[in-house]
Amino acid sequence: MKTGAWEIRVRGQVQGVGFRPFVWQLAERFGLNGSVRNDAMGVLIHCDRLPDGFLAALSAEAPPLARVDEVMANAIEAAGYDGFSIVASGGKGAQTRVTPDAATCLECLAEIEERNGRRYGYAFTNCTHCGPRFTILKALPYDRSQTTMAAFGMCAACAREYGDPRDRRFHAQPIACPDCGPKIWAEPGGDPIRVTAERLLAGEIVAIKGLGGFHLACDATNSAAIALLRERKRRPSKPFALMGTLPMIADYADVSESERDLLADPAAPIVLIGGRGGLPEGLAPGQSTLGWMLPYTPLHRMLLREVARPLVMTSGNLSGEPQVIENQEARDKLSQFADAFLMHDREIARRLDDSVERAEPQMVLRRARGRVPGTIPLPDGFGAAPQVVAYGAHVKSAICLIKDGQALLSHHLGDLDDALTWEEFVRADADYAELFAHRPVMVACDQHPDYRSSRHAAAKGLPVVEVQHHHAHLAACLGENRWPLDGGQVAGIVLDGVGLGTDRTVWGGEVLLGDYRGFERCAWLRPTPLIGGDLTQKQPWRNALAHLDQAGLPDLAERLFADQTIAVARMARDRRLNSPLSSSAGRLFDAMAAVLGICPERQSYEGEAAMALEAMAVDISSGAYPLTTSAEGVIDPAALWHSVARDLATGVAPATMAYRFHAGLARAFAGQARALVDRGAAQAVALTGGCLQNALLLRLLLSELEGYPVLHHQRMPANDGSIALGQALVAAAQSI
Ligand code: ZN
Ligand code: ZN
Ligand code: FE
Repeated sequence: MKTGAWEIRVRGQVQGVGFRPFVWQLAERFGLNGSVRNDAMGVLIHCDRLPDGFLAALSAEAPPLARVDEVMANAIEAAGYDGFSIVASGGKGAQTRVTPDAATCLECLAEIEERNGRRYGYAFTNCTHCGPRFTILKALPYDRSQTTMAAFGMCAACAREYGDPRDRRFHAQPIACPDCGPKIWAEPGGDPIRVTAERLLAGEIVAIKGLGGFHLACDATNSAAIALLRERKRRPSKPFALMGTLPMIADYADVSESERDLLADPAAPIVLIGGRGGLPEGLAPGQSTLGWMLPYTPLHRMLLREVARPLVMTSGNLSGEPQVIENQEARDKLSQFADAFLMHDREIARRLDDSVERAEPQMVLRRARGRVPGTIPLPDGFGAAPQVVAYGAHVKSAICLIKDGQALLSHHLGDLDDALTWEEFVRADADYAELFAHRPVMVACDQHPDYRSSRHAAAKGLPVVEVQHHHAHLAACLGENRWPLDGGQVAGIVLDGVGLGTDRTVWGGEVLLGDYRGFERCAWLRPTPLIGGDLTQKQPWRNALAHLDQAGLPDLAERLFADQTIAVARMARDRRLNSPLSSSAGRLFDAMAAVLGICPERQSYEGEAAMALEAMAVDISSGAYPLTTSAEGVIDPAALWHSVARDLATGVAPATMAYRFHAGLARAFAGQARALVDRGAAQAVALTGGCLQNALLLRLLLSELEGYPVLHHQRMPANDGSIALGQALVAAAQSI
């Protein structure tokens, strides 16, 4: 037992998660006098004694949504404490953080099912351990008056809970009950949950207002309803997300333990899970996984209970536009898709899509609701980093802010070609800057001059650091893995769609040797013309034609793609019309998909062909296609294509060919990276770029690199969604 007074500093995600009442209860248990308060750095505790076990309990017993990064105790001069008090927030710098939205906790779920309880069947039940946060936040500090709950005056019973440190709802800002809180209703009317369930069971499509926006819902077991939704949304094949309870999901899919844990995470992301039981093919044509999420609000929970089957829950938006969040906007825009509405009167302050993740191997494909505004600590060496804002790429855009040793990556914003997404991007820039009192001294962006994000950076009137696209991918991977600023160079395997290279050609299949400060390009896929430029993103056959011709297999191309305008395409290529050279790995995937007959003519969404190729591949350890690498580092797939031609001629199963393709690519790139480590040039291997969303490719690379230190993305997207993080770190590194 130590004596004297103590000051204890707790850092991490400790505000707005019930940490102060937790400390208060802990102090009572240990019989301490003193106080607890929030301040700019987290939580500060003063106490008259430091009994054994108290510090450990602060981390070990922290509330569910808390994340304790550091606990530090210092002896201070004794002061006369009388009991233990919670000091009200206020003053400058307090409550500078807000946590992500969290799925309804088990205790709240039990309450909405308790017939005699005052929150029986109440759609907005929440507590300190769960419920909305970022989606209702208008400004910091995070107090009810600064949220969209300000419109609802607390009743006496709620106020009592709010003020009682023993209560689970002590200082729960969105606290509400049927007497005082928001309400749901159906349009057209009726008992909202029951009538909505009846409509869904009858095959209708209902627009449902949720936490971060509207969804369009239908019965996931009803092929006709799914086809109707596809037809109305003009969305022929992009997978639909599903919502189901754990037992429902287990009815259709083989859910592993890690998938179960991820589903039940407070972030409640959409989790890609293999197997689809007897569910209709129309949910995700050509794909081997379905995206599942649990009902993460009481409203969703009650609806699922009533329909007793999984529901499609896809973003309620016009094609390419951001998700709708306002009631009138929903009536105006979504009535062309939906037969009815399930509405509520709590305003959504922040539009957030559902996050999309995978548990095995762990990866994030879209980072949004439940994950933002989480911050990550900067790697060692970045302590003196100035405030930087980075604007990312173009299609999967997101913004990154660096301040006080932390990086904050915004939610997924989307494709900047869409006018409304662009507006959203500009608004998010101002919004994040204001929320986090960010005063950048420099901006970072992609080297591509035509990206809207790059032009936005240039217009800021601050020094601009233009970062090569794949260098940014590499730096993002280093940063996520907390690779120190002076940790040495790594071999970056960057397998991506397209990005502008330093030689003004289009890159995307590279082995880079570098760190945050710079890089050299050590190996790359042999440049192949993108015949038709941007058209190659939509029409996989164009990539196949370019690759087969280059490999000396023009006859095969003519045989496979007789229906396409091959002669015109070849003429354009020969005259170098709109046919830039590219080392893109993404386009190589498209080429292979087209050769195997996977949507050769047109893919209806980005990544469709490559995802179907991954789904087709069956691992029967059936070898790998050869690629050759020249002394200069040109990785040539010509030999791969000749093997493909042979396999086609001898009737090898497409599943085997798809696997050999993945394995060949992994072997060729891993070999180059291993060589850099072996000769002491690189300290580790980093795996990054959009193609690393491919779980099979990631697994094969990891197995090729066994015994080598490997960094890869787990909590940040491998795709352009984390480019801004890499840009910010490259810019910061230059100024340290
Ligand atoms: Zn709760
Ligand atoms: Zn109330
Ligand atoms: Fe990229």
